[in-house]
Amino acid sequence: MSPAPSPAVWPRIGAHTPTSGGMAKRSIEYALTTEAEAIQVFASNPRGWAMPDANLAADTAFRDRAAELDIHTFVHAPFLINLGSPTVATYENSLASTAYSLKRAREIGALGTVIHTGSAVDVNHVPTAWKQIKEGMMPVLNNLKESDPWLLLEPTAGQGQSLVKKLDDLLMYFEALEWHPKVGVCLDTCHVFAAGHDIAKKGGMTETLDLLV
Ligand SMILES: [Zn+2]
Repeated sequence: MSPAPSPAVWPRIGAHTPTSGGMAKRSIEYALTTEAEAIQVFASNPRGWAMPDANLAADTAFRDRAAELDIHTFVHAPFLINLGSPTVATYENSLASTAYSLKRAREIGALGTVIHTGSAVDVNHVPTAWKQIKEGMMPVLNNLKESDPWLLLEPTAGQGQSLVKKLDDLLMYFEALEWHPKVGVCLDTCHVFAAGHDIAKKGGMTETLDLLV
């Protein structure tokens, strides 16, 4: 469905790491303790819209240490992001926060930024939601260089007017984002299961992942 991430990225095992106390110290320590080969971090408060300035020295320290230890990093953007929102302020904040998270990912040397695929909230807003995602995100994506982080779409649990209820719906997201080469997928196994993909049964995970091929 999307261009596969490079094989060097794909099979790594890791965890979401805490950042309080500084990424270079706390996240790296956590990665070492858990023997994580890949980590996910929040680059700002995940429950707010604040976009704090980068600390160049701290970013460099983290990037260097992660590179030295061969740890691959991903940024999880704030949970509030909903590019499909019918509320103008939420939509605008979502665009700004997504662009900011991509910038932070680049600054700390992360390979991608994860955003939730969001919801149209109101069934009547669904067609407009897809339109506004395209209009708002294409300039952001077209600004990315080849070496920049991926934008990774994480399907939610499929409740309400979720734009991606089942993995097949990712097709619509990729369509809206014009199959941009910097767009990929992040699967939260809990969300996927809650959305009705039975990854617990024998062969269920393979069956589910095959939907993305
Ligand atoms: Zn998530």
